[in-house]
Amino acid sequence: MTTGFTAAAPRRRVVLLGATGSIGRQCCDVIARFPDRFELVGAVAGSDAGALAEVVNRFGVRRAAVVSPRPGQRRPDGIGAGIEAACEVAAMESDVVCVAIPGAAALRPTLAAIEAGRTIATATKEVLVMAGELVKRRAAAVGAGILPVDSEHSALWQCLRGERAESVARIVLTASGGPFRERDPATFATITLEEALRHPTWNMGPKVTIDSATMMNKGLEIIEAHFLFDVPYASIGVVIHPRSIVHSFVEFIDGATIAQLGIPDMRVPIALAIADGERLPGIAAPVQLTASSPLEFFEVDPARFPAVGLARAAGETGGIAPAVLNAANEVAVAAFLDRRLGYDAIVPLVAETLAAAALVRQPSLNDILDADAFARQFAARHLEPGVMQA
Ligand code: MG
Repeated sequence: MTTGFTAAAPRRRVVLLGATGSIGRQCCDVIARFPDRFELVGAVAGSDAGALAEVVNRFGVRRAAVVSPRPGQRRPDGIGAGIEAACEVAAMESDVVCVAIPGAAALRPTLAAIEAGRTIATATKEVLVMAGELVKRRAAAVGAGILPVDSEHSALWQCLRGERAESVARIVLTASGGPFRERDPATFATITLEEALRHPTWNMGPKVTIDSATMMNKGLEIIEAHFLFDVPYASIGVVIHPRSIVHSFVEFIDGATIAQLGIPDMRVPIALAIADGERLPGIAAPVQLTASSPLEFFEVDPARFPAVGLARAAGETGGIAPAVLNAANEVAVAAFLDRRLGYDAIVPLVAETLAAAALVRQPSLNDILDADAFARQFAARHLEPGVMQA
């Protein structure tokens, strides 16, 4: 006020894509706790205009849009509708765009933000899984930064800060192993929706919870890590760590390993990303290692969790293969959530769709969207009972 001390840093202007979902609400928590650090200037919701209006009023958001308004739901004044309106909010003037719209729907708004040169903090792994090559190419061309919010990738980012790329021997993602880590695979056909939704450590939305049970989530995260950190697939490992305390680790060429630990709380990686890597006080309590020991780690059994190898192979194939993998998995998981597909049929349906897709290298956005549409149609058609038995 009166001194010559450096003025407080200006508030970081945040645009939040997916403001009403699980990650979006936690991002709002962080912003609300640090009103002197963050200003929520733009918000996009998938379909819930009512919940979005609450966010708009609470934070005085300047621009907002809902991608697919629910039929019959009244849309408050000032909230736009449709994908173009969402892209406009994504591209508006800001310091960081937090991407938390689940699934493929995040792709176009994220690309709009990148084309406008915005820094992306992505919690939506599909953005890099579907379009990693394209997103990286465009971000490099315009100088847009990409920061991770996914907890494992945030951990890797923290482990890699200040290190040289040539010092890295291997990055290793940890996985809880989900609810079926020890279940007899011979009984996988009888797994119910309720059993699959019971995640042992993280409280997340239903799609990612099922992906954690099959470990397709970790497969998608291998692809995400490849693009975020420019590490070859052969140098990306996965281990099962049931307590979800070690969020991932990096092995260096000199034999040193650096890991990031913490209680499972997504507000830590969210805050770190929207603050551009700066640590804010009191986001979560530190992990109590004396209470949480022993820290156990196990190899991934490829027969129990075939999704991990399938995703890794799709990543190595490159081109549109990861987009096909992702879309087929979305269809299969939605069908399982709808009780139209058995748990043990999810990954085989994804593999069948991948095998049927024609490879396109260096895909454009249209190639990616075509591959996504192909995979959705193929997988949906092969859900039909007559086709399944054929
Ligand atoms: Mg994760």
